[in-house]
Amino acid sequence: MAAAAAGAQDFPAKPITIVVPFAPGPTDLVARQLAEAMRKPLGNATIVIENAAGAGGTIGANKVARAPADGYTLLVYHIGMATSPALYRNLPYKPLDAFEYVGLINEVPMTLIGRPTLPANNWAELTKWMESNKGKINLANAGLGAASHLCGLLFQSALKLDMTTVPYKGTGPALTDLIGGQVDLMCDQTTNTTAQIEGKKVKAFAVTTDQRLKTAALKDLPTLQEVGLKDFEVNIFHGLYAPKGTPAPVLKKLNDALKVALKDPDFLRRQGELGAVVVNDNRVEPAEHKKFVASEINKWTPVIRAAGVYAD
Ligand code: ASP
Repeated sequence: MAAAAAGAQDFPAKPITIVVPFAPGPTDLVARQLAEAMRKPLGNATIVIENAAGAGGTIGANKVARAPADGYTLLVYHIGMATSPALYRNLPYKPLDAFEYVGLINEVPMTLIGRPTLPANNWAELTKWMESNKGKINLANAGLGAASHLCGLLFQSALKLDMTTVPYKGTGPALTDLIGGQVDLMCDQTTNTTAQIEGKKVKAFAVTTDQRLKTAALKDLPTLQEVGLKDFEVNIFHGLYAPKGTPAPVLKKLNDALKVALKDPDFLRRQGELGAVVVNDNRVEPAEHKKFVASEINKWTPVIRAAGVYAD
């Protein structure tokens, strides 16, 4: 007890690692910007990002679930925390039991984008193209349980169209292939797509939120609801997690630092420019964050079950 208390008092006494369960891309970017903003309130701590990609984020999440519970190994994960229990029959950890919930970071809309050579410039033209290319369309994602997977699943079921999904270790590498024309379509967070849409490197067709976005580069894109996909709404959350059993004083230091970071003007500006909405409510509190993830599990489980998709 005394050793743990002393450890907590000195925390952090060595570099902290934040595990990102995807290749460099949108989740990675949230984690890196957050790490920069949390450094100072943690006494100029060194915070290192480690990409542990694969299986829609569940490999990296499992790694943190099994890491020493001392606050030096953390996880930035997204909606996969809530969708993976329904998707994976043998998920090696229980999202609500295996972690201490440090706090929610942000919410990020998604965009439906296509390769630059796609012969369609808007939703109406895309619909026609999809109709005449049935059975030949490729949809990239970041693996089963990823946000891009969930969005693609809902998209296919709303359109009653089957596409060939192409999994990557993250939507960062998937975006490179989309720009290169190797895949046709992808759903991805605005944190990854805004600059590419602005630079006309990809075609953009719609946003996945129920309201249009305000970001300059995205404000003319219709919502999927507007174009007729009833009730279509996907908004991605990102949160910060520690292994179960991390001492309460360490968690408090991490949560305090998170709260400072979420008010940091630079962090807010950088996130805002990419269409992310930094959390500004009580879900930054561990208990409320956990309650929110539990409600997201309840929301997505029946939707995923109805789609009948599973992995082992
Ligand atoms: N955007 C990815 C997803 O689809 C995750 C990532 O690559 O950061 O879940």
